[in-house]
Amino acid sequence: MAVRGESLIRTLEEWAPPSLAVEKDPIGLQVGDPEAEVNGVLVTLDVTEEVIDEALRLGANWIVSHHAVIYRPLRQLRGDRPAGRLAAKLLKNGINVYVTHTNLDTAVGGVNDVLAEKLGLENPDVLVPHVRERLKKIVVFIPEDHHMKVLNAMCEAGAGWIGDYSHCTFNLRGTGTFLPGEGTDPYIGQQGKLEQVEEVRLETIVPESIQSRVVEAMIQAHPYEEVAYDIYPLELSGPSFGLGRIGRLPEKMTLQTLAERVKEAYEIPALRLVGDPDRPVSTVAVLGGSGSRYAQQALERGADVFITGDIDYHAALDALASGLALIDPGHHVERLVLERVCQVLREKWAPPEIQVVPTSVHRDPFQFL
Ligand SMILES: [Zn+2]
Repeated sequence: MAVRGESLIRTLEEWAPPSLAVEKDPIGLQVGDPEAEVNGVLVTLDVTEEVIDEALRLGANWIVSHHAVIYRPLRQLRGDRPAGRLAAKLLKNGINVYVTHTNLDTAVGGVNDVLAEKLGLENPDVLVPHVRERLKKIVVFIPEDHHMKVLNAMCEAGAGWIGDYSHCTFNLRGTGTFLPGEGTDPYIGQQGKLEQVEEVRLETIVPESIQSRVVEAMIQAHPYEEVAYDIYPLELSGPSFGLGRIGRLPEKMTLQTLAERVKEAYEIPALRLVGDPDRPVSTVAVLGGSGSRYAQQALERGADVFITGDIDYHAALDALASGLALIDPGHHVERLVLERVCQVLREKWAPPEIQVVPTSVHRDPFQFL
């Protein structure tokens, strides 16, 4: 069966929901049609003309990009300007572009977790929290014989977590009534006859970002044609999510040794270093992309060294003065997440159903001489 763009988007957003993005970040479907069939997916950090050519060569009509293809509002679509040429080329060739940016930076297992994992940081915590998840209460009425089936389906979809406890629910037995109308096909009872059924009122908690997944699982496991359920907003807030990670190295080492490890782990030929190479470091903050503006937060959270891209001269001077070491491995290390994005999609559609590949033509624009 043909896979449509909307299923591709849903799969990515279950992992990196738009609610995790920084405000006003241009994310989501930027070019194309959610109804468009998915013939193949190319995953990239940026959409360039070379990347579009690569997609055409591979027969991939969907591109999943980390950075937006339309970052500022376009005022013209001119063939003699790069932005217009890019948009026209996408449209002319029927290529759809979906962007997952700061939501992917923030997501569990996203850019920042990948960067922290590669360095072996222990118990990494969020460096810059920017979203506190909202929680909902979901209540559903289930006939006794399907009680545990529905309960398990909802909890396996992610409902019912309180701290480290899963399957947290409350269940109350009672009597439900209903009268099946004309044209119905009731699981219990018959058309036109008032029924009384022993049911269980199951209530549990669900984070807003996965609410639709839980409702879908609940409806699938429930035997009724029309499932009775309610969703209430709560004043409680759930866990916080954010950019960057901070954690401890498995053992203390010099800044110089850490820099060598970063080069190896991030597969880069060179990096920029701020601070005494012989100083010992153990607490490391890392933030993919351009993170200079979060250096103060890294310092306040007790980081010895902050690893981030696009560090400018004055940020480097400020860090030196305040005793925070900096490592700039470049912005392009975010590419390390591309394989993870591919994995998430391949788990859903194993090749040859859909070919999902990371770009092999897009390179760091900076060269080291
Ligand atoms: Zn970036």
